[in-house]
Amino acid sequence: MSAKIIDGKILAAEVKSCAAQAVRFLQERYGITPCLAVLLVGDDPASQVYVRGKANDCEACGIESRVIRLPAGTTQAELLARLGTLAADSAVHGILVQLPLPRHIDPAAVIEAIPPEKDVDGFTPVNAGRLLNGEPCFAPCTPAGCLRMIEAAGVDLDGKHAVVVGRSNIVGKPAALLLMQKNATVTVCHSHTRDLAAVCRTADILIAAVGKARFITADMVKPGAVVIDVGINRGADGKLHGDVDFAPVSEIASYITPVPGGVGLMTRAMLMLNTVQAAAPKTAGDLGFSVKNPVRF
Ligand code: NDP
Repeated sequence: MSAKIIDGKILAAEVKSCAAQAVRFLQERYGITPCLAVLLVGDDPASQVYVRGKANDCEACGIESRVIRLPAGTTQAELLARLGTLAADSAVHGILVQLPLPRHIDPAAVIEAIPPEKDVDGFTPVNAGRLLNGEPCFAPCTPAGCLRMIEAAGVDLDGKHAVVVGRSNIVGKPAALLLMQKNATVTVCHSHTRDLAAVCRTADILIAAVGKARFITADMVKPGAVVIDVGINRGADGKLHGDVDFAPVSEIASYITPVPGGVGLMTRAMLMLNTVQAAAPKTAGDLGFSVKNPVRF
């Protein structure tokens, strides 16, 4: 068997075009232009690239972006003060703080200072709690993107066994909750899981969010499984590798996401949708639109 590739490029472009359409709707109907503020502390090169990417995505969707670059020596109090100003600014609809922060700043304290209604990354405890309770919320963009990819491939999650490898607050745990909301039976694995390969082999849907290149090998995958690779690992060759050993696994899986060109692009696109939704008056309803089938054959 050779897996079909769920193409993040095609799907992210569709999601961003939906976001752009929603921006035009908000401008015409309500005179609102969504605005995303991104706070970047320090000069971490990877973070600089991510922030530039987010600003480009905003521009492509017609979303205003404000990138606030602060020096590495910024104190926690100074950062919280900047956040307070953005929180009070009614022209700013979404706020995100680029992680990681310098060591002297407590990320939890900073994230908690983002008002939940502007928390387009979905990282605040309020949005995490709402997700847990199955209430309307901003779900974190990476797992939301994974779900979008699975659904776009036409895979029905109802009653399926989904195995998530990784239990971080930003990927593994919210992915498990979103899968559960879709009536999947979910197993979450981590570094203490016994006989991980055997557990993974029971998965109809396997989400890898481990942070180790080519960690999921072909012997860990059930024939016909849907494999979603969240991992982004830079190899010694300077290239990006996923958590999944792509070539052999794609001989076994039914669907697979590539790295690069997969979940990473969807994460960025879902941020645009969340920002548009944050700008929408409550009466505008859900602007998320459904996305057509992006599977590349
Ligand atoms: P974390 O390091 O926070 O979490 C990794 C998880 O993997 C932990 O739960 C850890 O278990 C588990 N793990 C580590 N080693 C093993 C092992 N040997 N067996 C089983 N489980 C193991 O990472 P993130 O969740 O933040 O990110 C995961 C990957 O996804 C990274 O490559 C990251 O770069 C990428 N990523 C990609 C994004 C995208 O847009 N595509 C967005 C965010 C992340 P334990 O809890 O026990 O330590």
